[in-house]
Amino acid sequence: MAVLVVGTVTLDTIEMPRKRVEDVLGGSGVYATVAASFFECPVRLVGVVGADFPHAYTDFLHTRGIDLQGLERVDNGRTFRWGGRYAEDYNVRDTIFTELNVVADFHPVLPDVYRQTPYLFLANNPPQLQLSIIEQATAPKLVVCDTMDFWINEEREALEALLARVDILILNDSEARLLTGDSNLMRAAQAMLRHGPKRVIVKKGEHGAISITASSFFSAPAYPLTQVADPTGAGDSFAGGMMGYLASVEDTSEEAIRSAMVYGTVVASFNIEDFSINRQRRVKFSEISERYQQLQEAVHF
Ligand code: AMP
Repeated sequence: MAVLVVGTVTLDTIEMPRKRVEDVLGGSGVYATVAASFFECPVRLVGVVGADFPHAYTDFLHTRGIDLQGLERVDNGRTFRWGGRYAEDYNVRDTIFTELNVVADFHPVLPDVYRQTPYLFLANNPPQLQLSIIEQATAPKLVVCDTMDFWINEEREALEALLARVDILILNDSEARLLTGDSNLMRAAQAMLRHGPKRVIVKKGEHGAISITASSFFSAPAYPLTQVADPTGAGDSFAGGMMGYLASVEDTSEEAIRSAMVYGTVVASFNIEDFSINRQRRVKFSEISERYQQLQEAVHF
């Protein structure tokens, strides 16, 4: 079954303590589709770029088999740009700038073939835009959304309206605390469930991710890495890998979601070994399977 990802397609400037890169390929939509493309399912992308967006980047997405019918290019527009700076502790990141540019006026109309996509991932984007996609989808089997501090601070009301319409909310621990005002993650998850999603997945960086429903709890460890180059996009890679796996097995059971979280974790572990999507260009599925098995062994007791 197919996965539809609606997310940003960006040019990122990343400052790590010992290296800086400018205008590299990034964005929630890019990280998520590239991650989903490792699995046996059609992957569709909805997003927008400006005239300045390098063709080499769209060519790369094509080579991954990603359907780009939903990627709009605004001739007189400028691509979304984001700048992030990491501290020595890579779990701490500051946004230096967010230039929405073409995203600010983007009101996507889903191509007809996209409307019936069963697996919908609403990656980081303005919550009104995420909601408009749900309204255009005709047969969603699973609706998953992500958000971040920027939208919690700027568009809280729209975000809360969105939460009533999604099956799974994915966000990181600091965002869960910001959204609910509760520092206890279990209580914060329960508060988020009261807004509507049936499941909340909280990403905790190098400490893995947890999934909470009204009746279940699951914890997936992060893959133990000794070298991290750039954590940008780890969350989107996690979610995209998760969606790709679920769509490939056509299953949304608790068991499938647990496996999907571990696959998502593994794809994210490759993402952070290099800047942008550079590491994913070289990863083979056999390497993903190998890390999946290692994680299974790591939690066996
Ligand atoms: P992550 O590290 O998983 O939070 O994802 C970082 C990616 O999200 C970067 O490639 C950014 O270009 C993109 N991004 C940053 N801020 C936003 C935002 N407010 N809305 C959507 N995407 C964003």
